[in-house]
Amino acid sequence: MKEITVLSGKGGVGKSSIAASLAIALSKKHKIVSADCDVDAANLALVLGVREKDFKEWKPISTNEKAVLLPEKCTGCKKCLNSCYFDAISWDSDKNQPVFDRFSCEGCSVCAMVCPEKAIKLHTVDNAKIGYGKTRFGFDVVSGQLEMGESGSGKVVAEVRNLARQVGGDAELMLIDAASGIGCPVIASVVGSSYVIAVTEPTPSGLSDLKRALGVVEHFGIPYGIIINKFDLNPDFTKEIEKFAKENGIEVLAKIAYDKKFVDALINLTPLVVFAKEYEGLFEEIAERIRL
Ligand code: SF4
Ligand code: SF4
Repeated sequence: MKEITVLSGKGGVGKSSIAASLAIALSKKHKIVSADCDVDAANLALVLGVREKDFKEWKPISTNEKAVLLPEKCTGCKKCLNSCYFDAISWDSDKNQPVFDRFSCEGCSVCAMVCPEKAIKLHTVDNAKIGYGKTRFGFDVVSGQLEMGESGSGKVVAEVRNLARQVGGDAELMLIDAASGIGCPVIASVVGSSYVIAVTEPTPSGLSDLKRALGVVEHFGIPYGIIINKFDLNPDFTKEIEKFAKENGIEVLAKIAYDKKFVDALINLTPLVVFAKEYEGLFEEIAERIRL
């Protein structure tokens, strides 16, 4: 199964709208599965019209271990109290025992090593979930969600991609909607991809964030192209991006003008190519230009 990842250096450039419409365009000629790997702000399923309650299954997963006190073993010696680099340990004077803050604990196990009574254990905790549902376009969307304040988004992305491979079965293509930026979840989405589409907009921050994101893609030697969204809002800067692309041999897959229908489609939980049929041809052309 070839995997196509849609990413953006910064948020708010229309990445998920473009990913959803591209998935539908690809599904007309290929058997596909889609994967929402923006696990801190998952919305691809919603853009494709699949609500959380419509998912067939949600499976809890763990990205981390957390320190847990075995109170019967604790003597109140306080040796653990200042051992935590992450400030996850406070003191309960009434009980004369440490208290562990689940959200601050990174599971490094230093406190457990410090404790002379072996009164601290590391336990895995379910802090994320992955699941899938069927879109009305005939393909499945796989999604993952990390609980608020939790770390380990890269692991959730890896689990989402694994589940998408299982759910997709003999699908030819997986369309991945990655997070914005260049952090851990983006790298976990990009690594092993067959092709990357970077969505940008014509602003100074759009271009600088695009360059950073493309640095990640180039690091892994993955072929890629770019889409300039809302290109008409700043024609001079669009020329800057096109100049940058030309000088670096980067294919501009499409330039898309600003259109309020992008927002209206989102409000109506309908993919753009369904909400505004005139976009069908454009996304079919983009699908054709992807070199796998
Ligand atoms: S496991 Fe590490 S991060 Fe968690 S409370 Fe202990 S020392 Fe702090
Ligand atoms: S180091 Fe161990 S025994 Fe001492 S206060 Fe901490 S948990 Fe209790």
